Amino acid sequence: MNTNHFELAILGLLILVLSACQTPHSVNCTSPLESKSFTETTSHNELIDFVLKCDSASPFIQTSLYALNDSLSIPVVELRKNDGLNNKLNVMFMAQQHGNEPSGKEGLLLLISYLCQDNQNQLLDSLNIILIPQCNPFGAEHDTRRNGENIDMNRDHLLLRTKENQIIHAVFEKYLPEMTVDFHEYYPFGDDWIEFGYRKNIDIQLGGLTNINIDPALRNYFYENTFPFVKQKIEAAGFSFFEYTLGNFATGERLRHSTVDVNDGRQSFGIAGTYSMIVEGINGRDSNDELERRSKSQFLTALSLLENAAANKTALQHLVSLARKGIAQSNDSIAIRMEHIDNGSQLYYPLLSLKSGKDTVFVVDDYHPKVVATLSVLPPSGYLIPAGDSLLVAWLKRSNFSFAGGYLGDGNIFEYRILLKTETTAEGIPSILPVVEKQQITSQLNPSDYYFVPTNQLYKQKIITALEPQSMYGLASYQQFSYLINQSHFPILRVE
Ligand SMILES: [Zn+2]
Repeated sequence: MNTNHFELAILGLLILVLSACQTPHSVNCTSPLESKSFTETTSHNELIDFVLKCDSASPFIQTSLYALNDSLSIPVVELRKNDGLNNKLNVMFMAQQHGNEPSGKEGLLLLISYLCQDNQNQLLDSLNIILIPQCNPFGAEHDTRRNGENIDMNRDHLLLRTKENQIIHAVFEKYLPEMTVDFHEYYPFGDDWIEFGYRKNIDIQLGGLTNINIDPALRNYFYENTFPFVKQKIEAAGFSFFEYTLGNFATGERLRHSTVDVNDGRQSFGIAGTYSMIVEGINGRDSNDELERRSKSQFLTALSLLENAAANKTALQHLVSLARKGIAQSNDSIAIRMEHIDNGSQLYYPLLSLKSGKDTVFVVDDYHPKVVATLSVLPPSGYLIPAGDSLLVAWLKRSNFSFAGGYLGDGNIFEYRILLKTETTAEGIPSILPVVEKQQITSQLNPSDYYFVPTNQLYKQKIITALEPQSMYGLASYQQFSYLINQSHFPILRVE
């Protein structure tokens, strides 16, 4: 579109006049969902209009749009008070990675609307809040779980194949938030449940970090502090609340508190020493079903998490700072295979009887809350990535790791010989894992044939998890990178 200078000047004048009319004390940022009386979810265009309107109306809001294509972009909304105080806690909330789970997005838009009010910005005295209310605009517009390339974004946080996740991780890298929360919904209306006669009916499930490489102080803080605080707030408002629990109870699957993989929105930041959580609200029979209750419970969870973070700002900064220092400096072994085990405890699991409409509590023995390592490796000082492997190099470049061309250090270099591959069922998922033998390379390597990725960095645990051939969560476990173990020598070398 061509716009001449005269039109631009008029537009500029109009913007000036509009800004002059709006004072920070008369901000009205009613969210699209409220404007529609909670009858219909917010569309992508309504969302963009809303966050841009809030940006111009409130001195505390900065909106950036990250374009995905000609018609869709990912809005990132930063709420910040420019009061000269540094040392604030950075908190990043993200929602709707799964397009057919809209209530997290609605909750975050209600949160923006709430924080825009005259007397509701005290949280910004302690926090900078970064909100990504819609991570998957294509999925949202089409009411599908996956994105436009048919990728489940919440299994893509290690490979970062999707532009959406590249944007999300670039935002993380920009702010290095101490705390991140990923908002989802679970679907309780499946056929298995109808047949079973009971279904889940919990408004909000909240989950912490489960990967055991992550600093125990970060993992325990969830149970000691955040979980009871949010539970009290949510229940006091008349919503039901439970710890995030996975496993299809209707078909007799064991129950556990999620997976340990680092490819999701929670653990992928947790493995970089971030205090990270997942929220699972309840989905509707369709996207608009019970929308008010679903969105308000998500909003209240988000607000409670912020209140808790603000009240514990110093403790959280200290916790994360220690965890991040520990990652880069520690030489402790890193678990690359894990399993959830039964620790003898029982779970009292609430379900709704479809017959009587009453809540029922099941006592579950097949409950595996404890995670243990089944295979670990000692950290190397770095890895050598073949410069000629364009797939690996492209992954390295989009992963925000520190790395350098060539290797001129004097470490001992080892390679893995792949002896055989075994089919294993780990955590209920069949996978092909290799048996390897490590041997030192004594011949001279040409430094320009490799990129060197040192492990003394924030992403140390993620790098090791990704690059060890025997890792259950490594690159080689993805089809795109399975060639790495389909040869006699694993091409990525260890420097020790
Ligand atoms: Zn989800």
